[in-house]
Amino acid sequence: MASGIEIRDTDGRGRSTFATRRFGAGEVLMRAIPAATSVNDELALTHCCVCLSDAHGRSPCDRCGAAVLCASCFSGSSGAMRLHADECEALARLAVAPDADRPKLARLRI
Ligand SMILES: [Zn+2]
Ligand SMILES: [Zn+2]
Repeated sequence: MASGIEIRDTDGRGRSTFATRRFGAGEVLMRAIPAATSVNDELALTHCCVCLSDAHGRSPCDRCGAAVLCASCFSGSSGAMRLHADECEALARLAVAPDADRPKLARLRI
């Protein structure tokens, strides 16, 4: 978290984040790993299923065929492959299921 940000308890509203100085355009205030991510079905084979970055030209996962990982996530150094492993088996089952049986939120990873 950037300097100039603090978290305080507030009356009746719980914990909140406050700026203690002015920030300029483009300044990074905070970086955090999302609790859940999902790639839109139309982008599933062109965007990384873990970090959502552009992954055009990457081959689909050998197992499920329904997702791609960018070169950075595929290297495994960030544990990204383990994140995809959680959804890979389910995506493989969905790939052979009739369209009517595919729930739209099946790709949501929490
Ligand atoms: Zn990635
Ligand atoms: Zn897979």
